[in-house]
Amino acid sequence: MATTGPPTCNPHAGVPFTDDDATIAAMLEDVSVPALMCAMVHVTGDPEWVRGDIRPQGLFLNEYQGYMPEEMKAEARRRAAAALARFRDGGCALPPPPPPAVLHEMMTYLACADVDPAVVPMFITDLNLDGADAYAITWGADLPAEVAADAPVVVIGAGEAGLLAGIRLREAGLPFTIVEKNAGPGGTWYENRYPGARVDVGSHFYCYSFEPADHWTEYFSRQTELQEYFERVMDRHDLRAHTRFGTEVTACTWDDGAGRWVVEVRTPDGGTDTLDARFVISCVGSLNRAKWPDIPGLVDFAGPVFHSSAWDHSVDHRGTRFALIGAGASGFQIAPTIADEVAHLTVFQRTAQWMFPNPNYHLPVPAGDTWAMRHVPFYGRWFRFLTFYPGSGLSIENSRVDPGYDDGGRAVSAGNEITRQLFTVWIESQVGDDPDLLAKVVPDYPATGKRTLQDDGSWLTCLQKPNVDLVRTGIERIVPDGVVTTDGVHHPADVVCLATGFRHTEFLWPMEVRGRAGRRLHDVWGDRPAAHLGITVPDFPNLFCVYGPGTNLAHGGSLIFQSECQVNYVMDAIGRTLGGGHRVVEVTRAAHDAYVARYRTEIAQMVWAHPSVTHSHYKNARGEVWTVSPWPIPTYWTWTRSADPGDLAFA
Ligand code: NAP
Repeated sequence: MATTGPPTCNPHAGVPFTDDDATIAAMLEDVSVPALMCAMVHVTGDPEWVRGDIRPQGLFLNEYQGYMPEEMKAEARRRAAAALARFRDGGCALPPPPPPAVLHEMMTYLACADVDPAVVPMFITDLNLDGADAYAITWGADLPAEVAADAPVVVIGAGEAGLLAGIRLREAGLPFTIVEKNAGPGGTWYENRYPGARVDVGSHFYCYSFEPADHWTEYFSRQTELQEYFERVMDRHDLRAHTRFGTEVTACTWDDGAGRWVVEVRTPDGGTDTLDARFVISCVGSLNRAKWPDIPGLVDFAGPVFHSSAWDHSVDHRGTRFALIGAGASGFQIAPTIADEVAHLTVFQRTAQWMFPNPNYHLPVPAGDTWAMRHVPFYGRWFRFLTFYPGSGLSIENSRVDPGYDDGGRAVSAGNEITRQLFTVWIESQVGDDPDLLAKVVPDYPATGKRTLQDDGSWLTCLQKPNVDLVRTGIERIVPDGVVTTDGVHHPADVVCLATGFRHTEFLWPMEVRGRAGRRLHDVWGDRPAAHLGITVPDFPNLFCVYGPGTNLAHGGSLIFQSECQVNYVMDAIGRTLGGGHRVVEVTRAAHDAYVARYRTEIAQMVWAHPSVTHSHYKNARGEVWTVSPWPIPTYWTWTRSADPGDLAFA
């Protein structure tokens, strides 16, 4: 396909094209028609595209066609193909961009519902239609050089959040070092290389708002493609020279007199080193430290044993009897991927999982969609909106427990019961003729009470294979040649994989973080980790957490978007500190405590904290949730637009 001219300077405005009419028409066969209609407003400058009868009937998470009748889609494509041919003939020159009121109209068109004007600014910012990166840091230019030079920052971790922090620090012109324990960037996507690892948030949203996303080959990218993306981002933003790979932060100690952090690291050769930092930004993730189960006999197993997040690729699992212990998000992806390769697969699943039907989960992005993402101006941005809007937490009320609702514990509200029924129908449609399996795979706790998994049918197809067993009986012990369950059955195994999750409630573990007067962060937190906005803690000045307590997402969104919110807040706090001639910033006790009280009240009302949901990695041993956000995404975005000086003490 012909591509002419250099890319326009706005990365979302499309690369000019010379493709013939037949090619354009063929390419449009693969696209999301609702997103195409919005793109045509940009291409033609005419809002009538979203004002006529050709309109989607509904918007559902991960459904890109808006339930349009086929003949309506065909007509839309025909009109768009003609308009794109005229656009091509005119040299791909764009008319002036639509004004905000029309953008709002376009959002309402895609959402198939009135989009609250209060949330429009967030989506307009995220759409990044002018390609100018609304979150870019500009205050650095106003800082005296000696102030910037005296404000070195240590970023802990080079996952998606650490890279983002690096990008913003570079824009600010502050000296910074990213310390990364792995040999490369990507964090969770560097480490989790198990067979089948892929993201379960749509890729066109699971990427930075300011990094063009026209390249994804699948709608839900695999680990390798994500890892490549982060490598590319690192290079595009010149972060390698700022990064110490293979180096692990072991301790951070606040020096009150100097107003600085002393950061101790373990170097690649096993030695130690110390870094000086005015500010520390922790970007260590919170699903990063593997949780090994306390199962008797584990050390006695004769064959290989490894955790899913450290898959041992030196072990050839083909033809083996494979024991997969744990089937949350990781096990759920591993089992279908290896089932046909192993001789026998035994899946030990303690708690059944609710699944969200998603036919696109394993689909490649077809040629036409790839073409449109690259060439049709702003098509990719509106496709991103299609992925983002339904997962933006605006329906978070469905996750709230209705105290007046009582159906014996199946659901927590009338809305939650509808979700339960929808999810149950999805399961029954696949295994309805196997009552034994059905009894094992329908969860007995309210829908969405744990992390809901994305499913295109591959999980239940896998469980029905002749060489696969699903074991829901508890594990008693591991013996050299297998796993023994509490019913006394011995399940032979040659390899054991522990897909048993992470130490999600132990934020920043195992680093030793000491703040004012030597106070240990883990002593302060105990099993109730909390921070103002999930970011800052009193007595720990100049320390910021990204993906800290209470900021995991169980109701939608993308953690990369969440990081963009948090890093925006962190950079604003740093900018206000240095710009105001200060050296130290700390959240006030009053602001922190008020936020945490509000968080605690809110989260306790949500399905994730409901007592019927047991064995949840969101919960601490008391059954409380301190990990997950109870806020709609636009609410949290608003709170993190800037650091409120009234919440902060400067010195
Ligand atoms: P997880 O959701 O915590 O699941 C761990 C599994 O191990 C569960 O089945 C759990 O059972 C079981 N388990 C834990 N300890 C056990 C024990 N002592 N005995 C028996 N079974 C035990 O961990 P994960 O699957 O690694 O996923 C963690 C998070 O990582 C996800 O929620 C998600 O946020 C992220 N993730 C995302 C993706 C993706 O984007 N596609 C993929 C993987 C992971 P119970 O359910 O009974 O506790």
